[in-house]
Amino acid sequence: MRRLIHRLPLDVRAGQPLARLIWLIAGLVCALPAVAGTLTVEVLDIGQGDAILIRTPAQKVVLIDVGEAPGATMQHLQALGVRHVDLAVATHPHADHIGGMTSVLQALPVKVFSDNGLPHTTDTYRRLMTAVETRGVTYRTAIAGTVYRLDDGATLEVLLPRGSYLRGTRSDLNSNSVVLRLRHYENCFLFTGDSEEPTERALLETDDLQACGVLKVAHHGSSHSSSSAFLERVRPRIAVVSVGAGNDYAHPGPEALGRLEAVGASVYRTDLHGTVTLLSTERGVEELKAGRGSQAPLAVELETPFHQAHTGSVSKVLQKRPPESWHLEVAKPEVPR
Ligand SMILES: [Zn+2]
Repeated sequence: MRRLIHRLPLDVRAGQPLARLIWLIAGLVCALPAVAGTLTVEVLDIGQGDAILIRTPAQKVVLIDVGEAPGATMQHLQALGVRHVDLAVATHPHADHIGGMTSVLQALPVKVFSDNGLPHTTDTYRRLMTAVETRGVTYRTAIAGTVYRLDDGATLEVLLPRGSYLRGTRSDLNSNSVVLRLRHYENCFLFTGDSEEPTERALLETDDLQACGVLKVAHHGSSHSSSSAFLERVRPRIAVVSVGAGNDYAHPGPEALGRLEAVGASVYRTDLHGTVTLLSTERGVEELKAGRGSQAPLAVELETPFHQAHTGSVSKVLQKRPPESWHLEVAKPEVPR
C-alpha cells in the first residue's frame, strides 16, 4: 500500500479525499495480477507430503499428489474454488502423496488419473485404485514421452519412468517417482516427486534434462536427493520444498539445502512459508505470496524471465511425436457430481 501511495502524483497526494480514493482504487486494479495468460502453480501447505495444484489460463486443472490427510488438500481446493480436476497424478504410492487422493476423487469430477504403475500393498493404495475404478476415472500409467497439451503454450511432459523401472535402489517406489516438466511460455517447472539420486542419474543420462527455472525439490529436501550433478544441470532459480514442520524425518536435510544454495536457488519451504504460489506469464515467474510471512527473502523479480538454455524446446517437445500425445479438452466449466 505504501508503494501505491508513493506512486500517486504529488497534487493528488495533497488533494481532496475523493480524488485520492479514485487514484487509490485505480492503483489497486493495476496492481492485481494479470488473469489472462497467467498460469498458477501452487505448492500447497498440507504438512509432510506433496500436493501441487496447477491451473492454466483456460482453467485446466492438474493435481500432482495430494498429501496424506484425507481432507487437507480438499480444504485447499474448496477454498480456491476448484470444482474439477482434468489430470491427477500420483508420483508414487506412498501415503504422504496419495493419502488424500481418494477424497478428491469422491468429491470432484476427475478426468484422468495417472501413476507410475507400481502397485503398493497398503489399504490406502487399494482404496485409491478402487475409487479410480468406481468413479469411472480414466487410468493411464505414466511413461516418458507422454505430453499433455493443457492449453495453447502450456504442456506437461512425463520424463520418467521410462519403459523399465529402476530396481535395487534404496527405495524403488521413491526412485521410480513420476517426474514431470511443465512449460508455459519460456518458463519451466520440474516436479520430481520423491525421486532419489538413482533417478537423477537416469535423468542425467538423457539430453532431455535441461535447465529449468523452477524445481519442486525431490523428497521433501532429503539429502538422498538433489545431487550436485543434477542441480548443476537443472540450475533452478526457484526451489520449493514441500515439507511438514517438525516432521519425523528431519526433512529437509542440511546437505540438500547446501547444494541448492550452491547453485544459487532461492529456496521456499511450505513449513516456513505456507502455501507457495508461483505465477507464470510471458514475462517470467513471480512468487505471489507465502502464507506464513517468514523472514526469509521471497522476492523474485517479475522482470527477470527465465531465458535459459531451453529456448525453443517447447517446439522440440511438440515435434518429437511421443508414443502418446493427448490434448485435454474441457469445453466448458464442469459442475461437481
Ligand atoms: Zn514423500
